[in-house]
Amino acid sequence: MKTNILMAQESVISVKNLNHYYGKGNLKRQILFDINLEINPGEIVIMTGPSGSGKTTLLSLIGGLRSVQQGSLKLSGQELFGASQTELVQIRRNIGFIFQAHNLLGFLSARQNVQMAVELETEISQIDAVSKSKTMLEAVGLGQYVDFFPDNLSGGQKQRIAIARALVNHPSLVLADEPTAALDKQSGRDVVELMQQLAKEQGTSILLVTHDNRILDIADRIVDMEDGCLVRNSHNEAIANESGATNNHSFSC
Ligand code: ADP
Ligand code: MG
Repeated sequence: MKTNILMAQESVISVKNLNHYYGKGNLKRQILFDINLEINPGEIVIMTGPSGSGKTTLLSLIGGLRSVQQGSLKLSGQELFGASQTELVQIRRNIGFIFQAHNLLGFLSARQNVQMAVELETEISQIDAVSKSKTMLEAVGLGQYVDFFPDNLSGGQKQRIAIARALVNHPSLVLADEPTAALDKQSGRDVVELMQQLAKEQGTSILLVTHDNRILDIADRIVDMEDGCLVRNSHNEAIANESGATNNHSFSC
């Protein structure tokens, strides 16, 4: 029993002293500097920061989309530094990805886009895959639109399909890179509230990159990236009342 409790509390993401570089030789440039970050099960963390500061790079490392060069990066205890491509593929199976451009396939219907994710991840009969995909689309409010193609849906609806696709396999972690960037204020708000609600129901952790100040309140915690350094890490109450300085942990970089 004790072990179970310990396991349940293990960080979903644990990053320690992570550095990252692009380019080779004279062109080699350091992009991430001594990143340290822990994310707990079920926690929603928002990462903000200027364009070019390294947010997408960090997200792609955490998602196993690029190889870790220096430092330690563990997902649910599994070390990504030194992981093989096969191991990275395996790791990616337990992560839901949501991008700014929803990355849906235009020649597949809403249901088929979600179903493809189901069939890639699990051995499942066609009938079960169809029903699982429809159920997930109903959960994101698209029950009426399962047979629509992305081109015939609004930006907000497309992003909700992307959410359904990311969450349909109940991943322990969802990584979202500026998911509201292409949406108007209300659709952006609806989309993140939906992510928040589904993640809380499923116990999923979310790491969400955004420039959108209007959605910061859905986070349990906010971290800021500046020039490749994580410079602020605050609990949301501190942000809300603008008196966060005393509660903030500052990272020197
Ligand atoms: P953000 O998501 O915060 O806008 P990025 O992680 O995309 O930042 O980029 C950080 C820096 O790394 C930028 O200076 C960018 O130009 C550079 N960069 C991003 N991707 C690559 C790449 N594949 N090769 C070389 N440089 C890159
Ligand atoms: Mg980016």
